[in-house]
This record gives sequence, structure tokens and C-alpha cells, in this order.
Amino acid sequence: MPLPLGPAEIVVDLAAIRANARLLRSTAGVPLIAVVKADGYGHGAVASARAAQEGGAEWIGTATVEEALALRAAGIEGPLLCWIGGPETDYAAAADADIDVSVGSLDQLAAVASALAGRDTPARIQLELDTGMSRAGAAPGAWDELFARAAAGERDGVWQVTGIWTHPACADEPDHPANARQERSFRDGIALAGRHGLRPGLRHLANSAATLLRPSARFDAVRCGIALYGLDPAPGRAPALGLRPAMTVRAPLVAVRDLAPGDAVSYGHRWVAEQPTTVGLVPVGYGDGIPRHASAPATSDPATVGIDGKRRPIRGVVCMDQFVVDLAGDRPAIGTEVVLFGPPSAGGPTAQDWAEAAGTINYEIVTRIGGRMTRRYVDSEKGRSER
Ligand SMILES: *Cc1c(COP(=O)(O)O)cnc(C)c1O
Repeated sequence: MPLPLGPAEIVVDLAAIRANARLLRSTAGVPLIAVVKADGYGHGAVASARAAQEGGAEWIGTATVEEALALRAAGIEGPLLCWIGGPETDYAAAADADIDVSVGSLDQLAAVASALAGRDTPARIQLELDTGMSRAGAAPGAWDELFARAAAGERDGVWQVTGIWTHPACADEPDHPANARQERSFRDGIALAGRHGLRPGLRHLANSAATLLRPSARFDAVRCGIALYGLDPAPGRAPALGLRPAMTVRAPLVAVRDLAPGDAVSYGHRWVAEQPTTVGLVPVGYGDGIPRHASAPATSDPATVGIDGKRRPIRGVVCMDQFVVDLAGDRPAIGTEVVLFGPPSAGGPTAQDWAEAAGTINYEIVTRIGGRMTRRYVDSEKGRSER
């Protein structure tokens, strides 16, 4: 399909997110916390949250309190959980907006307590336990005191402890011994919380990979991010559920030129034509989140794009605003659609293909894409299209 010259675009199919939520919800068999942090992994947080709710997600999850507040301001209703707060975080605003705030340390519990002083309705908090990732969450040595203080605050009506949770480090490697270890540790934590009189209704551990690969990790809810957007959290390992990638990135071809043997391409002359060929210019670059690592010299196997159904490899390094692809003698018309990545049906590579070329994960490919590109929403079930 020809594109007008102009900015490249990110097309997000809300029907795919809705269908993925439905699939994840029914596979998990427990409530789905649809994770829309980092602007919905690049798909748009508000639209993604709405589509996930339409697909049956009971909860929405964000990283920061600010992200959660922004969703409320945009009209997203229903249970909403966030798990990152710092010294400047407005916990009172979160409580006013009926947002569950996760607490992962004694310091944070104290900050939440002081922000809530003087309120007459209990706020909602969830306790994050570190069961072996050494990232966020209370370390096992702090659990006893965290639970004691959390239980005291609950008795005093400051908050209600609505949930308890942890995060897996190796869920994309189903045979990794850390999976069973973390799950055991989490069960120990839940039991200890119970001995302090806490009965959090929502116990959760699983991310997308654990949801798909480890039924015992599903507990009372699952937190799915990447799978909601239709990407595989454990490439080659997760069962094929029929998840659909929601994002397609496309740009117009803006120039075609001939190269003679010896002509060198882009900064540093990292690629030199060995035979006559044609190359095309794609007007997006690392300023728009295209990973420079997916081109020479970082990789010997550069990323490709789809043009007229053919895969065309990047030649030379990706620049800030543009990159060059090998057209192998063909001369597509200016304005021809270049599919950077999307679902296989879009006619180009997948985000996973780019991840492999760039030595990263599909999460990073979709989350970093943006820059000057516009984002357009379509709904392949309802036939609507909007910006
Ligand atoms: C990002 C995140 C998730 C979602 O992870 P996916 O692998 O994208 O499903 C779940 N829980 C927490 C705490 C997260 O930070």
C-alpha cells in the first residue's frame, strides 16, 4: 500500500490487544492485571488499558504512581495497581484516586504512612516481597517487620493490605531452578504475613512468561505486559496461544539510488557494495528508536525491512534520522510502504527479528520506538481508525 511522504507511523491494532487480553484471561483462569507501563510498551497506555479492559482484564498495572494517576485522569476506571514510588511520590493523590500502591520497603511504608496521616478512609496498599531477584521488594530479612507495621496500620485504619506479590527473575527459562525457589519463598512470605494477621486477597507472582509456562505461579492474578501486546515473552519456549502482535511500524521509501562496486554506505563506510545494486532510503533512525545496534558494525546479520513483500537488509549504520536498505537492483516507487516490523501479516519482519539483530529482547524494540513517528490506532474488529 503506498504511503504519503511524511512521517513514519506506528499503527496499533486495538482489536489485537483486546483479543490477547481475552486469550490470556482464559488461559490463566484468574484475574488479569494488564500491564501498561512505559506508555503501554510503546503502544499508548490509555488506549491499551481500555482495549485490555474490553478484553476482560480486571486490573490495570503501571510501574509508577504518576502513570497510574495519568490513567485515572484519562478516565480509566476500575482496579489499578502501581509499584514504583520514590521520595517525591504523591501517595495521598494515589489514595484519592483509589489506586493500589505497592510498598516494597520499610522506608516506603513510612513515607506512605506519613502521606496518609489524617485521612479518614483507609488507602489500598499491596506488599512487594523480594523472593530472589534482588531488585525491588522487601528482602526476606525485612518481612517480619514490614508485616508487623503493615498489620498495625491496617488495624489503625490507615490502609487495607489488599495484595501481596513478588516478581520472577527467570520465568522465561522454565527449567531454571530459581522459579521453584521463588515460588516457595513467596509461599513462605504469604504464610508469615498470615501469622501477622494479614489476609491480602490478591496474591500474585506471574508475568507473561510465568503465566504461559508455569501454572503453579498463577495464584490469584497474573500480571501480563508483553503478551498483551502479542509478543512472545519466551521466544521458542512459550506455547503458541495465537497471540497477535498489535504494533506495526511503517515508513515511506523516500529515495532510490544506484550503487557501483566500491560505493560505500553511511558513516564510517562500514558497508561497501561488492557488485552493482540499488539501495533505498528510509526516513527514520535512532532518533525515532530504531536500534543502531541492528546495523553494522554491531551485528554481522543486520535487521531487515519488508518492501513489496521482500526482506531488504540494512546497509551501513543506522543514522539519527534515516537508514539505507539494499534493494538488490529493484526500483520500487518513491512512497512505497516500508514495513519495519509488525505481525507476519504486515509483510515484514517481526519485533522479535529486530530484537535478534540488535542483540536485545522484543520488549525493548516496541517500547523504545517512537521519536518523531505518529501513532495511529486502528481496530480490525470495528473498522475504525483514529490518531
Ligand atoms: C513489567 C512488569 C510486568 C509485566 O511483565 P511482562 O514480562 O511484560 O509480562 C509484571 N510485573 C511487574 C512488576 C513488572 O514490572
